Amino acid sequence: MRVWIEAAAGLIFPAARPPRPWARLERPFCERCAEPYPRPVTEVFTCANCGNRDWSLSRLRAAYLEKGYIREAILGFKYRRQFHLRPWLGRWLEDGFRQYYAGERWDALVPVPLHPERRRRRGFNQSAEIADWLGRRGGIPVVEAIRRVKATAPQARLSRAERLRNLRGSLALAGGFDPRGKRLVICDDVFTTGATADACARILRRAGAEEVVALTVARR
Ligand SMILES: [Zn+2]
Repeated sequence: MRVWIEAAAGLIFPAARPPRPWARLERPFCERCAEPYPRPVTEVFTCANCGNRDWSLSRLRAAYLEKGYIREAILGFKYRRQFHLRPWLGRWLEDGFRQYYAGERWDALVPVPLHPERRRRRGFNQSAEIADWLGRRGGIPVVEAIRRVKATAPQARLSRAERLRNLRGSLALAGGFDPRGKRLVICDDVFTTGATADACARILRRAGAEEVVALTVARR
């Protein structure tokens, strides 16, 4: 209950404007995974990593780089219950949406799920909270189409191979949503390798989704 009171307070009294600079994720970057490219390039390119990788996501995009205050805000919201930051995280996600995905048809936003046990302990799923903000602003339904069926070790300190092993079998399609023919945006606060969002996309694509992309507030 306390979570919702604090979250509501965040809606009514948004925090003062967070300090800048907010480092935008900008081109040139890999058209698939948005890995920034150090030198200017004129042609559309895909990075070497993506050349070897079998993505289910057709695009990954983030509004900002995970630096400075953006990083502080993500951590503060997720781990320190700074609910007054929710509108800012929502706005930042919306910035990314406007920049990269506006003007296309999207059927639903799909938050990356938390295992029910972790969600219970945290009291909320930060991805669902910020997806909800964007959904309301953009008139797009938010569907919790993927669920965690197995708790996984936190991904942050693992290598890519370990992340994939960790993820395998930990996610499943939630009941009550038919992805067939749908164009879906997986939403999260931050992505590092994109393995989690891609595992969600794989399930949705196998269940018939037409296209699945990812959007986060920040990219590491
Ligand atoms: Zn790439």
